[in-house]
Amino acid sequence: PVVTRFAPSPTGYLHIGGGRTALFNWAYARHTGGKMLLRIEDTDRERSTADAIDAIIEGLTWLGLDWAGEPVSQYGRAERHRQVAEELLAQGKAYRCYCTPEDLEAMRAKAEAEKRPIRYDGTWRDRDPSEAPAGVKPAIRFKAPQQGETVIEDAVQGRVVIPNKDLDDLIILRSDGNPTYNLSVVVDDHDMGVTHIIRGVDHLTNAARQTQIYKAMGWRVPHMSHIPLIHGPDGAKLSKRHGALGVEAYRAMGYLPEAMRNYLARLSWSHGDDEIFSTEQLVEWFDLDAIGKSAARFDFAKLENLNGHYIRHMADDKLLMSFIDFLPHAEGGPAMKAKIDDAMMAKLLRALPGLKERAKTLVELKNGAQFLFAERPLPMDDKARQIIADGGRDVLAGIIPVLTHIANWQAHDLETAVKSHAETAGLKLGKVAQPLRAALTGTATSPGIFDVLEVLGREESLARLSDQAA
Ligand code: GLU
Repeated sequence: PVVTRFAPSPTGYLHIGGGRTALFNWAYARHTGGKMLLRIEDTDRERSTADAIDAIIEGLTWLGLDWAGEPVSQYGRAERHRQVAEELLAQGKAYRCYCTPEDLEAMRAKAEAEKRPIRYDGTWRDRDPSEAPAGVKPAIRFKAPQQGETVIEDAVQGRVVIPNKDLDDLIILRSDGNPTYNLSVVVDDHDMGVTHIIRGVDHLTNAARQTQIYKAMGWRVPHMSHIPLIHGPDGAKLSKRHGALGVEAYRAMGYLPEAMRNYLARLSWSHGDDEIFSTEQLVEWFDLDAIGKSAARFDFAKLENLNGHYIRHMADDKLLMSFIDFLPHAEGGPAMKAKIDDAMMAKLLRALPGLKERAKTLVELKNGAQFLFAERPLPMDDKARQIIADGGRDVLAGIIPVLTHIANWQAHDLETAVKSHAETAGLKLGKVAQPLRAALTGTATSPGIFDVLEVLGREESLARLSDQAA
């Protein structure tokens, strides 16, 4: 069975690119009936933080991506990594290197002067350890093959051939006893039973080095897919402004996890011309051979439109739950959330069909729903204040008695009454609706005004209208 893994370094938030890598690993595991594991690559002790680990787990959870078992800490496995380094040493596939920092610096300077890539020169590769200088703690280096080539059969990049002369003898265990990255990754992937590695193409050179270590250990090399990076709309490296943000930023911007999954799935992967598909369809369709080789472009406008589609098509009760989950992450949201009781739930549910037609994000939905939460006297925005000042007061004074006499406080009856009043008073419907909207919501835009009246109820509506009437 297929075993994939997502292996983030907890040195910051879960980036959008990391979210996409996790999604691909998750979707492929689901598609094949396998499982995805989570490994936290926390070996950089200075830069790895507990907050970052929490943020990664929270980000994945919000995206709806789950993994099998407990997250594995790479740092927690350092002893095992050391063992494997010793094993390679014992087998003559690695050696102790007694170079001092000064030696290495000299090597670097020489390479620079000769304008060639900096590579370890192999000083200790075949040298007798008895020549080791006293007092120098050795590092362990991998004895990389010097002839031939290392081949990566990559499901996305194709057959990648790297001449072995380009890969020098990598340190696998530092002189302070700490294992290095490429060794740890290989040992972990092997021990965790990973069959498929799906990660960013920036790891392709590592893949060659890792392949050499697998071979030296006599381990089977996992199937590899190195996926293209995500670029900005201009084709350049993704910048913050263009979307290089943590997953939590997308939550705060009001995107739905379902829309995010759909959007991220389409970055370098496609299924025919399908743009909008459910997560179930993604799982059914996802395969590695449909991942393209060219960099994806991140496009906020497309994400926003997709999100609007998801908002409009989501069942109201489900959307309400997503909205409530979203509020703690939104500006002004926690105060709104505190006001949600059964009565408010009912109002929100009643208002949602009108609100969701106007919202591409949950932030817009929140702004649209604000009027339900507002307390009298209502704060008025500039446009609303203007409408009230420009004759709105008198219109309201005229309509209040009409509304007071309505027996059945429902959108349909309210509409009939307001229309006939407008006709009698010789006013266009808009001339009546505008001051109503301003007084009821404090803004100049809202769902249909008769829905607003109905949702607010008789008492609250009449009180808000009276507050602004002449
Ligand atoms: N920890 C690496 C990263 O965050 C991923 C390594 C891998 O997937 O092999 O880029």
